[in-house]
Amino acid sequence: MTVEQERASDTVALRRALDAVPAYRPGKPAAARADVTSYKVSSNENPYPPLPSVLKVVQEAATQMNRYPDMAVTALTDRLAQELNVSADQIATGTGSVGVLAQLLQITCDPGDEVVYAWRSFEAYPIVVALAGAVSVQVPLDADARHDLPAMADAITDRTRLVLVCTPNNPTGPAVGAAELEEFLARVPRDVLVVVDEAYLEFGRDESAVRGLDVLARHSNVAVLRTFSKAYGLAGLRVGYAVAQPRVAEALRKAATPFGVSDIAQRAAIASLDVRHELQERVDDLVAERDRVVAALAEQGWTIPDSQANFVWLPLGEDTLDFAAAADEAGLTVRPFAGDGVRATIAERAANDRLIEVAAAFRNR
Ligand SMILES: *Cc1c(COP(=O)(O)O)cnc(C)c1O
Repeated sequence: MTVEQERASDTVALRRALDAVPAYRPGKPAAARADVTSYKVSSNENPYPPLPSVLKVVQEAATQMNRYPDMAVTALTDRLAQELNVSADQIATGTGSVGVLAQLLQITCDPGDEVVYAWRSFEAYPIVVALAGAVSVQVPLDADARHDLPAMADAITDRTRLVLVCTPNNPTGPAVGAAELEEFLARVPRDVLVVVDEAYLEFGRDESAVRGLDVLARHSNVAVLRTFSKAYGLAGLRVGYAVAQPRVAEALRKAATPFGVSDIAQRAAIASLDVRHELQERVDDLVAERDRVVAALAEQGWTIPDSQANFVWLPLGEDTLDFAAAADEAGLTVRPFAGDGVRATIAERAANDRLIEVAAAFRNR
């Protein structure tokens, strides 16, 4: 058979659920340009290279890569339990918190079950929901680009099995308040799991924002999702975790990809916890940079939602793709969401300056 004939006879039956799965659009690498340094600020990565102590641990661990990792992720789980003041049986790790998110779908949703979350929010949500054969119920953000929790509570039906609360919200930035989440939880049936996705927790400075672990202590139907990808700078190693009630955490461990979290990732995560104060200084610098960028953009006349994360949201509406093209032209790869807005990661100072320049030029075009 020729390649063409083979394609024409491609008759393998695939799950219909796949038709509803939007293809993930990864952040493009910054276009290489001869005249200017390019910056990729489209994936909310940490701009700092690994700390030498973490890199050393990774290099040592790499000499063992002919071996499988510890499948139970024992040392990291115990360390997290100690750091977070919870018991080890409340923790479940995964290949990034997106990996844990997929496990959360697997343990809660049968085909046709509903998952309620705000929109716009994290792009991975509709993908993992659709892949599970579950149904997304997207509740529009309010006028300040915040979660509309009363509307989310109204959207819960007897088919709802899972609610995803992204705080701070990717891509818009605001955090969910502790008091409003408490009111929301009072309206959620006890058999519906509410996931508090805190991927950007360490960048938050809003005193009234919810702390997932506080909520977890009071509500058995809450799970907290955390990651080493953003503040800890380990995006490329794929390690995240959930903290939940032991029964939920145990179910998550059952649904994990066996040996999914590599030994290198497990050791790097522990080494990062060892130097968390050094890493926190970097986070503090990024927060200062975020505040500088937000102030500069406000000065230019932009209305920017309150960002508690390592990115800013420019609500550009119909101008979104034009702005992204102008940024690209200036050597800055941002993340456009067509018709809605642009998300730009707070990165090294020169990249942030570039964003401020591009935004100014765009307003004066
Ligand atoms: C980046 C991000 C994650 C983390 O992804 P990993 O799989 O841990 O790299 C989770 N949730 C949100 C909202 C994010 O933006």
